[in-house]
Amino acid sequence: MDLGIRGRKALVCAASKGLGRACAMSLAREGVDITIIARTAGPLEATAEEIRKASGVTVTAVATDITTPEGRALALEACPSPDILVNNAGGPPPGDFRDWDRDDWVRALDANMLTPIELIKATVDPMMERGFGRIVNITSAAVKAPIDILGLSNGARAGLTGFVAGLARKTVRHNVTINGLLPGPFDTDRLHATLKAVADKAGQPAEEVARERAEGNPAGRFGRPEEFGEACAFLCGVHAGFITGQNILLDGGAFPGTL
Ligand code: NAD
Repeated sequence: MDLGIRGRKALVCAASKGLGRACAMSLAREGVDITIIARTAGPLEATAEEIRKASGVTVTAVATDITTPEGRALALEACPSPDILVNNAGGPPPGDFRDWDRDDWVRALDANMLTPIELIKATVDPMMERGFGRIVNITSAAVKAPIDILGLSNGARAGLTGFVAGLARKTVRHNVTINGLLPGPFDTDRLHATLKAVADKAGQPAEEVARERAEGNPAGRFGRPEEFGEACAFLCGVHAGFITGQNILLDGGAFPGTL
């Protein structure tokens, strides 16, 4: 299927690895010129080169922290008027809410709620004026089924999801959609770091914990980042113009509800 977005411009945040990288790769393969952001220059530039080689599109890499005002300014300087915005950042640390103070909450809200809102604010009006825009927020399956130790993530991402639910109904008339993609367990560095922490605590080998978790998913495996990237690209395509304000779970069927 031709997604009809060849020649468009995308800003993909937190994209040197994992899900952000996969979204950038899938969009690039559709002929979209890409600006990717991550904090560390080396891995980011390596990813940019891989995407260029795989797709032939223009890839601009900006090494900065997207959760800071300076980082967002640099990202928007490199890609001032994206047609496609993929919001993403590292997730907040797990823990017990009794140990979190106001600064912990502000950091989580800054990264996983206010950064995407700031980037939407900076880009959505020009998208509406041009009559095309696609915004995808990478959140988490925890938005639908909260995980107790991820309270900072549950709270911040729920805030973003609530805000977007209102705005997404205002932009769609101008062919600008805003949706959430909710990853369950995807085979990325972050998942393996989390599983290693679980394994260390339980005194079990990390590979064993990973195998058990994968086996416990209805699909019998973790998600592949490429699957996530392709879902993102579809949401960013011309055929997805009637999908807005949705939160799409990619979890191999782990959430047990009918809806
Ligand atoms: P990952 O650790 O594999 O990759 C994260 C990427 O984000 C890296 O490129 C890193 O450099 C970049 N990054 C992190 N913080 C940044 C910042 N402040 N500024 C710029 N770049 C930054 O992680 P992932 O698995 O791809 O996860 C992406 C998001 O999805 C995270 O918010 C994570 O919490 C969420 N998530 C992931 C899973 C999963 O199973 N992988 C499940 C649920 C939610």
